[in-house]
Amino acid sequence: AKSTRTGVHVYVPDPVTGTAGGDRLRTMEELRTALTDGELVVFLQPQLDLRNGDVVGAEALVRWNHPTRGLLSPADLLPAAEQAGLLRPLTDTVLELALAAAGRWWTDHEVPVSVNLSAANVTDLDLPDKVASALRRHGLPARALTLELVEDTLMTDPERGRAVLSDLRRLGVRTSIDDYGTGYSSLAYLRHLPADELKLDRSLTADVDRDPRAAAIVQHTVALAHHLGLSLVAEGVETVATSVTLARLGCDVAQGYAIARPMPVDDFLGWLVASESALLDEVLVPLLSQ
Ligand code: C2E
Ligand code: MG
Ligand code: MG
Ligand code: MG
Repeated sequence: AKSTRTGVHVYVPDPVTGTAGGDRLRTMEELRTALTDGELVVFLQPQLDLRNGDVVGAEALVRWNHPTRGLLSPADLLPAAEQAGLLRPLTDTVLELALAAAGRWWTDHEVPVSVNLSAANVTDLDLPDKVASALRRHGLPARALTLELVEDTLMTDPERGRAVLSDLRRLGVRTSIDDYGTGYSSLAYLRHLPADELKLDRSLTADVDRDPRAAAIVQHTVALAHHLGLSLVAEGVETVATSVTLARLGCDVAQGYAIARPMPVDDFLGWLVASESALLDEVLVPLLSQ
């Protein structure tokens, strides 16, 4: 298996046998039942507005509560899902879990939940209808949901992808370009892509304190995003120092270990309540007093 920039592994046949390994086949079979038996869960990671400390989003990240292998991460399960042709049902499940979670906090905190899409979803003409009925089922308005995609997911069929995204935005769902800055044709895509938000990749945000060139790229991307009317989210923010610098460079929102690690839904609900009263002393007080 070969790692791509998104940390998702692409299936490469064994050069000797030309087949998938036994482990991989077993994983694919197990995943089929996991999807129906409720073994998939989502962890939630908060996103913080760098100007005022408000929690402005939560990204849902899939985990597999495997009966014998423990908690598996996307890198362990997405390749098998892709190989088994299960990416669409996987997204359906994640969407369901994410909206069920948002339904628990929405009346008290209007914090949208973000769900990651894969290429199989972006070319799915039924996606907008599925999303609309899932929102209805959970009694949520469309603005309670953000859908994230990396530019590469549009490569198989850009026209259809844009049509699906436009339909989603017409519903009122927010769209976000994930891992921005690592793709091949970022600027050309930006021109026509119906999006509300850019998520600047961790590889570009991590070094802003040490590397003036990284800082220049962030600053330039902030300006670009704002000129296009997009909000800029910095991902992978691991230290308070980095979030201070990113705030100074004009980033709107930060997500990363400095704020909180992805956590189970129940923990997130507690975190959300605590963050509102305590205003995240370690992160915000130093940030706002700079
Ligand atoms: P992503 O969408 O860019 O999500 C951010 C990833 O960075 C998550 O990894 C998160 O745990 C990690 N992260 C967050 N803050 C930090 C930080 O400060 N430092 C570092 N080093 N890492 C941080 P995770 O959960 O392992 O997910 C990896 C990727 O798998 C995601 O990248 C996304 O592309 C994909 N993925 C996750 N859940 C889903 C899903 O439900 N559906 C699909 N299609 N893809 C998913
Ligand atoms: Mg994402
Ligand atoms: Mg990302
Ligand atoms: Mg990433």
